[in-house]
Amino acid sequence: MRLLIMGPPGAGKGTQAVGLAERIGGAHISTGDIFRANVSQQTELGREAQRYMDAGEYVPDSVTNAMVKDRLAQDDARDAFILDGYPRTVDQVRTLDDILAGLGTELDAVVELVVDGEELIQRLLKRAETSGRTDDTEDVIRHRQEIYTAETAPLIDVYRERGLLRQVDGVGTMDEVAARIDAALAE
Ligand code: AMP
Repeated sequence: MRLLIMGPPGAGKGTQAVGLAERIGGAHISTGDIFRANVSQQTELGREAQRYMDAGEYVPDSVTNAMVKDRLAQDDARDAFILDGYPRTVDQVRTLDDILAGLGTELDAVVELVVDGEELIQRLLKRAETSGRTDDTEDVIRHRQEIYTAETAPLIDVYRERGLLRQVDGVGTMDEVAARIDAALAE
């Protein structure tokens, strides 16, 4: 299965994506995780990405798209993968379509985790206490929510029109949400 998981910052995408990748036997591809690994290893890509991440801005497509193209071409992503945090812009949707067409494949479904806005801010502030992430401050969190609404939320309609969207209530325990995702994908 080739999947994409979407939802605003704090919706629990990363947590759910890890479990889902195991259940489908595929690669978990999180652009945020790849960027953070590069930042901590102080690679050139990490240095390029860090200033955008710290400000809660999107890393430029020129950097992000090439990274995803490389990752999707790796062996563990050949038969199944879950993309987490990509695509985030309409341009990235087009690039992903091209990358997948080049690999002779396409997405099977898009899972959207639906969580109310204030609940999200509270979750992220709580995560900030332990995450050590430099982009988990209240100002940056609010800015990331705004950018999500402006740039990424419109992608939901794109995938709905393609008949791929599966909306899932993201409020509940990890296991409850996971069960809802599995049920939505089995439909
Ligand atoms: P995340 O872990 O998905 O919340 O991503 C953390 C940060 O990494 C984001 O706030 C962006 O700065 C950057 N990032 C992750 N994925 C993308 C993407 N698809 N396009 C641009 N920037 C991204």
